Amino acid sequence: MTFVCPICKGPLDRSEVAYRCAACDRTYPIVLGIPDFRVFPDPWIEIEDDWAKARRLVERFNDLSFEELVRYYWLITPNTPAHLAERYTRHVLGGVDRGIASLAEIERLTGPIAGDRFLEFGCGTGGFLIAARGRFGTVVGNDIAFRWLVLARKRLEEAGIDDVTLVCCCGEYLPFPDGSFDLAVASDVIEHTSDQVGLVKQALRALASGGRFFLATPNRLSLSPEPHVRVWGVGWLPRRLMAPYVKLVRGLDYRNIRTISYFELRDILKRAGATDYVITLPQIPAAELVRYGPRERALIAIYHRIVERPALRWPLYVVGPLFHAVVRAGR
Ligand SMILES: [Zn+2]
Repeated sequence: MTFVCPICKGPLDRSEVAYRCAACDRTYPIVLGIPDFRVFPDPWIEIEDDWAKARRLVERFNDLSFEELVRYYWLITPNTPAHLAERYTRHVLGGVDRGIASLAEIERLTGPIAGDRFLEFGCGTGGFLIAARGRFGTVVGNDIAFRWLVLARKRLEEAGIDDVTLVCCCGEYLPFPDGSFDLAVASDVIEHTSDQVGLVKQALRALASGGRFFLATPNRLSLSPEPHVRVWGVGWLPRRLMAPYVKLVRGLDYRNIRTISYFELRDILKRAGATDYVITLPQIPAAELVRYGPRERALIAIYHRIVERPALRWPLYVVGPLFHAVVRAGR
């Protein structure tokens, strides 16, 4: 994999311990074997603390299984309440199946994917990367959370995969040359990104002509609870009231999450220069239903019944639980 400077996209000099851009006078370190091209930190944790947590995971890397290492991660992250940690863990464990389902959906929507190069934004613990490695020759995963990439490495190792490239970077500042990939995906990522238009622009830049960008994101105006914090109706509030409201009712930090509505998603895609795209209302896979309570499962059943009937479907663009979008890159 050839890397370029995430800021100026110019060439880099590589040493044993770092990449360096002479033009920007910036150094990007290689930590625990993973290049760190971040230009700003994960909003949840400072860069040094992120590396420190990654080192704690590396200490247990050989004596724990992937699932045990994920649980250990939540054990050393006591700020996250146990019931949410359990929920996130179940979500992580479903990652490979979700990836396989998403790849099938992309091909169903826009035809077979030509090309062999795959990039995932916000790859987290690498479930989608494993799904993609069954289909693509070159697979690259990036995440702003350095510590999660250690978990991804463990998961890949357990799956017997040693040729996936893991890169720590900001989605708005990708360290890859133009046209490097044929499919880029961002599942549940754009709502965690500070510059949402910038992320889509970077995806389209990194894709070859005719390449595709798939994104999945929860609907801000969904009738089900906000998926990160399990609070009803957050998205209907003005943005400035969301974080204080979540703090009040759940005591949780909601400052770094920005879910989007159908109208906001369309606007972001247009502002990023996307002209050829489709936004869909996906079915919730059966494997995902375990994440929901009885009241939500009842809502999902109604949703599935309506979503299959085109004439009745349009209100779900406003209040359905989530969106998928596929954008075709042109040049
Ligand atoms: Zn540079």
